[in-house]
Amino acid sequence: MTNPTDPSYFKTRTVEEWKASRRDTPEDVEEAKKLLLLIKDGADVFKTIRKNPLPNRGNISKYTLVLAYHQMVAAGELQEDPELLAKIRMKPSRTLSGVTTVTVLTAPWPCPGNCIFCPTDERMPKSYLPDEPGAARAFQNHFDPYLQVSSRIQSYEAVGHPTDKIELLILGGSWTSYPWDYQQHFIQRCFDAMNECESENLQQAQHINETASHRNVGLVVETRPDLLDAETLRKLRVLGVTKLQLGIQSMNDEILQLNRRSLTVKEALERVALARAAGFKIVLHWMPNLLGATPESDREDFKHFWQAPEEGYGYCPDELKIYPTQLLQGTDLYQEWERGNYEPYDMDTLVHLLADIKPTIQPYCRVNRVIRDIPSHHVVAGNTRSSLRMDIQELMKANGTACRCIRCREIRGQKVQPEDLVLNDFRYHAAYADEHFLQYVTENDKLAGYLRLSIPDHPENAPIDELKDCALIREVHIYGQSLPVGAEQSGAAQHIGLGSTLIEEACRIAGEMGFPRIAVIAAIGTRRYYESRGFERGEYYLIRKLK
Ligand code: SF4
Ligand SMILES: [Zn+2]
Repeated sequence: MTNPTDPSYFKTRTVEEWKASRRDTPEDVEEAKKLLLLIKDGADVFKTIRKNPLPNRGNISKYTLVLAYHQMVAAGELQEDPELLAKIRMKPSRTLSGVTTVTVLTAPWPCPGNCIFCPTDERMPKSYLPDEPGAARAFQNHFDPYLQVSSRIQSYEAVGHPTDKIELLILGGSWTSYPWDYQQHFIQRCFDAMNECESENLQQAQHINETASHRNVGLVVETRPDLLDAETLRKLRVLGVTKLQLGIQSMNDEILQLNRRSLTVKEALERVALARAAGFKIVLHWMPNLLGATPESDREDFKHFWQAPEEGYGYCPDELKIYPTQLLQGTDLYQEWERGNYEPYDMDTLVHLLADIKPTIQPYCRVNRVIRDIPSHHVVAGNTRSSLRMDIQELMKANGTACRCIRCREIRGQKVQPEDLVLNDFRYHAAYADEHFLQYVTENDKLAGYLRLSIPDHPENAPIDELKDCALIREVHIYGQSLPVGAEQSGAAQHIGLGSTLIEEACRIAGEMGFPRIAVIAAIGTRRYYESRGFERGEYYLIRKLK
């Protein structure tokens, strides 16, 4: 196995080499201007690009078309034409949530865990297979963080997407089990790529990013709950992490044990609560169809996510990834299947199970996935259908039910005006905290923006000293096409001051409850946004005094 802590592992291209590889020479832009006029007159975008290749250089990218558009508008050769701009962009749904996600993988590294369903491929970080989409890209880039981030940003730009607000999603085994030096270096190089310049250390890279053109507005790592303690959470804040993906998999101790998960339900809940008390947003992974589970036990299990602390739970995840167990060769689960101890659910059973549990998801939670992108040839038996999500939707429709999760209520590209929106406060009790999900919704319950305010039951026990008397803002999210900073688009939700109003409302609630201060877990690229709204820099958070 390669040693990712060896500095030679980072096979990095210089910024100059990187820029030189981009296909936006002045000649290309001139060609693109001609094509743009054809498209404006009604020609099909793809056909026009295909029929007019650049001499020896392949097709003109959409990035170059968008660049040509902006140059022509600036020179007065073309009137602003949002429809034309929309046409020359591709896959707009990827950024409709307001932020562009860049996914990168860490280098191969063993995980201290021993879960029976987890695949091992020594070319990959534990639990990943080399031909999963994100993993294949990481492999091509030698797991180099700089190359992975740069190439992803470039591909987004090539299809004309704004890349000024980036959520960085770092996948691969258990992040907090990597050496601390590796963690710092990896993040520094991700920031260097967003900043398009080299830095001397992590702090400098973060400082540069506050005003960079690709600003980091969220940083996510995945790890196991049992690897979290107060000191680890503090270090994650040093790195600028704002969101944690944690594998829960099941809330049944017997099933956890059978699948060789290393901690109990109670322990996992305590760690999740600790992460919440440090202000992190929490994404939990859940796996139906583990060894020992039945469709009935999975239905029961799923209920525990939303049960209150008084009932012995209080996980209340902000986001969920549902990964039905997939039977992969080489895993210990495969041996159990060979011995006749395990049977994957058939498709029908799985679709019915998921269609039954989805309507029970609470409106403050976002379901990001209901299947993992494992290429079907790895799956020995059981679910391989990639249309699972649609099958579930259809069944729910036939049952007359619906999912009320954040993802299903996002406003997407719809235009809204402030007077169309109402602000409501959805309250729930999670372990050791009273949560206020402040949401702006339309009369049809479409979600235009929200804020997560956490009121700790015992602020004096906060895992990080700075938070000892603070209420916490864990997330502010406003929807709308991810516009370049400062750009105007009438009616787009991000630009009608929803964020500020939500923050003021959170401060009012916390103030009335007697909290002297409120803290926000700010991503590096949003620090200045909060400073301009009355927050001051603390050591790890931004903090505002309350009257
Ligand atoms: S903790 Fe995660 S990465 Fe480690 S063995 Fe278990 S499932 Fe795999
Ligand atoms: Zn949903």
